[in-house]
Amino acid sequence: MRVSYLFGKTTKSISADEESVNAKLLIRAGFIAKQLAGVYNYLPLGLRVLGKIQNIIREEMNAIGANEILMPAMTQEESYDKTGRSAMDVLFKFEGQGGAKLVLNPTHEEVVTPLAQKFVFSYQDLPVAVYQIQNKFRNEPRAKSGLLRGREFNMKDLYSFHADETDLDKYYELAKAAYFKIYARLGLGDGRTVLTYASGGVFSKYSHEFQTLAEAGEDTVFLCDKCRVAVNKEIIDEQKTCPVCGGGKLEEKNGIEVGNIFKLKTKFSDAFNFQYKDAAGKEQPVIMGCYGMGPSRVMGTIVEVFHDDKGIIWPEAVAPYRVHLLVLGKEEAVGAEAEKIYKTLIKEGIEVLFDDRERASAGEKLSDADLIGLPYRVIVSAKTLAEKSVEIKKRDAVEAKLVATKSLLKELA
Ligand code: ATP
Ligand code: MG
Repeated sequence: MRVSYLFGKTTKSISADEESVNAKLLIRAGFIAKQLAGVYNYLPLGLRVLGKIQNIIREEMNAIGANEILMPAMTQEESYDKTGRSAMDVLFKFEGQGGAKLVLNPTHEEVVTPLAQKFVFSYQDLPVAVYQIQNKFRNEPRAKSGLLRGREFNMKDLYSFHADETDLDKYYELAKAAYFKIYARLGLGDGRTVLTYASGGVFSKYSHEFQTLAEAGEDTVFLCDKCRVAVNKEIIDEQKTCPVCGGGKLEEKNGIEVGNIFKLKTKFSDAFNFQYKDAAGKEQPVIMGCYGMGPSRVMGTIVEVFHDDKGIIWPEAVAPYRVHLLVLGKEEAVGAEAEKIYKTLIKEGIEVLFDDRERASAGEKLSDADLIGLPYRVIVSAKTLAEKSVEIKKRDAVEAKLVATKSLLKELA
């Protein structure tokens, strides 16, 4: 992609009401643009990051046998009356044709349960799991954390349906393992994201959250120094020791909840009278689990965790492009060399953002590269051309190095 064609720009001035590090950096770097509090536009760079996060999640969901679907953003309020959730504070309600009472879904249990009911009749139809990646709407009272807490935000929500609790337990563990794989692939592994015991509601002792440890986190968790699992502050009164080893020291930390898995059991199947016939022909309630993860919150989390005073430092797996190619100086031969390198990188399938702007100064290009934060910065200038070289710098390295142009591909491999 050529910067001269790119929609969106880096900017120095952002509105004073933007308080969070993630929103400030993402807006300044031209990844997102604010619509209103908690609602953002995704510009090309931001959409590429979001898409990469979604694809990693999608691959791991498919790997545990879940089916991707897309449910509607709006639903009849009546479905929420059935589950007793129509009075939820965060629900956006509106009126349709003929006074129809509608809501924008904050989550999809009220849609997925009656949907599954259309296709699941007998034990032979179970287990089955469906997921979607879609926008959710919640009228969050505090929306000052940028992508961490949106009023419209992106969620991956998986729902599983089972004949009995043993089968749910088995799938729950599978989903838990898939979640760890996802965070590792996203660059949030290596002990950065910890399994956290949270309150389980009426039916289970616990639910599990995945908390990425970060200063900006709104949640307080207590991390066991022995097993690296945590307990959410909400349940620390009931659970004063580590739920795994019982003995470790619990240390207070801030966390960002990047995922949440929950054994719903029969809460929603009861509300919709969703039953299946067992092998003996007897009606039984379907047992459910739900598994949420927020790609947009993950994007904000990555920025909160990986940045310095100059800008973002994207992990390779989610960076919008791998290489930021800069041409510095106006000499024709330098421009031609940069063009040649740009075309070679594209031919080799290396994702490259090419700062080909004629009017931008070297200083602007260099500070934009730091702000945007791609993994590799490659500079072509009169100086490098004279040495038949390019200058390469990894975003997180202190020193740049000169590399022979013919070795560039090897260097980027
Ligand atoms: P929180 O406790 O942070 O309010 P939640 O427990 O209500 O979140 P779930 O309903 O379980 O969240 O949603 C599943 C996932 O969706 C969360 O783990 C989080 O990653 C993401 N998420 C939830 N609310 C938001 C939001 N307002 N903005 C961005 N992502 C969100
Ligand atoms: Mg929560």
